[in-house]
Amino acid sequence: MNKSQLQQRDREHFLHPFTDFHDLGKQGTRVITHAEGAYIIDIDGHRMLDGMSGLWCCNLGYSRNEIADAIYEQLKTLPFYNSFFQCTTVPSIELANALAEVAPGDMNNVFFTGSGSEANDTNLRLIRRYWDLQQQPDKRIIISRKNAYHGSTIGGASLGGMSGMHKQFQALDYIEHIQQPYWFGEGGEMSPEEFGVYAARCLDEKIQQLGPDKVAAFIAEPIQGAGGVIIPPQTYWPEVKKVLDQYDILLVMDEVIFGFGRTGEWFGADYYGMQPDLMTFAKAVTNGYFPLGGTMVSDRLADVIKGKGGEFTHGYTYSAHPAACMAGLATINILRSENIIENVRDNTGPYLAKRWAELADHPIVGEARSLGMVGALELVRDKGSRARFDDDCTAGGVCRDMSIKNGLVMRATGDTMIIAPPLIITNQQVDELVEKARRALDDTAEALA
Ligand SMILES: *Cc1c(COP(=O)(O)O)cnc(C)c1O
Repeated sequence: MNKSQLQQRDREHFLHPFTDFHDLGKQGTRVITHAEGAYIIDIDGHRMLDGMSGLWCCNLGYSRNEIADAIYEQLKTLPFYNSFFQCTTVPSIELANALAEVAPGDMNNVFFTGSGSEANDTNLRLIRRYWDLQQQPDKRIIISRKNAYHGSTIGGASLGGMSGMHKQFQALDYIEHIQQPYWFGEGGEMSPEEFGVYAARCLDEKIQQLGPDKVAAFIAEPIQGAGGVIIPPQTYWPEVKKVLDQYDILLVMDEVIFGFGRTGEWFGADYYGMQPDLMTFAKAVTNGYFPLGGTMVSDRLADVIKGKGGEFTHGYTYSAHPAACMAGLATINILRSENIIENVRDNTGPYLAKRWAELADHPIVGEARSLGMVGALELVRDKGSRARFDDDCTAGGVCRDMSIKNGLVMRATGDTMIIAPPLIITNQQVDELVEKARRALDDTAEALA
């Protein structure tokens, strides 16, 4: 079948996620047919450096046959069995143990799910169960942040703080959203350091307003991903830690993007020196080769739910799917044996930081920020006032198209361009990425002039 036939069949029957169906019908889809290393290739043979690791998940790129083989071997041996009713499988035991080894501090327990969204739903259930067993049934409210992304189930989307999503469903009524630590967009006249402290104090203010005895947990991504790679000012997490230390409130870190090496440490919690009670993971845990998610649970919390008895009435058919667990084990093996994360921390991360920062001199870039293997560019009409091109933030879409034309996948979140390249990217490929991004910026400036 040729491209236009495929596009027509796509249009007729396939409702895509997070998509304007009407627009998609008009423009047609890009059909991706192959991938190798850090590159994807479409049906026209157009080869693109994948600056987004698929959807933040293919951290080791696309050519890891060890992972594919591990999945296939498992599918031939035991394609499925559940872990309900006192059953278990060898891959799920092995992966739970491997995760306990790589997770920070006392995060020694894992509940498996099929995705990040499901894992955040599981967190809601675990948090409630914990406080009930602690005889504190009034602790019900969960504090999250505006513009956070925690998935797309009703639970995940309620925890998330994206206004566009909230307009289309009825959110759970026990979740409150506070200021996000987005200095470029919302810091005003404050320095980044001042603003980081201010955003963390908003948590304290909210807790006091609601009453500490009513607040069950605070959930946050270490760095907001889908919200626009919002790297909090260095003062933010230490101040949040101070606030949380004053109260008996659980910390949930949603590590779905930053887990498994993206900051140059195993988890964002390691990078920021935080000790969460729950840690959501998904995406990169299997290098995107098989759906798997879960939540890491601290001993502090697990001791209560394990110790006090009574069934935890929650789980998914595909919790700890054996083939998914084999994919996770193979991924962790590669991360460890090839020192991938250390290389991001010591070599490619610092190199990306240096090269990416050069883009700040471009006439339409208001800020170029990066950390580990993520980066963002703020597109502006006027650098001094940080004024955008228009209210609808259409510059981002233009820049995304220009980037693809130039052979680089960048994503647009409004007028913020974001990248999260595979962790296996070489310094030479970082050069290629930055050069292509600069060409995309030139083309965007010309198109918008
Ligand atoms: C992608 C994402 C999720 C949701 O994961 P799914 O596997 O798509 O359900 C949750 N939290 C964060 C931070 C994410 O980036």
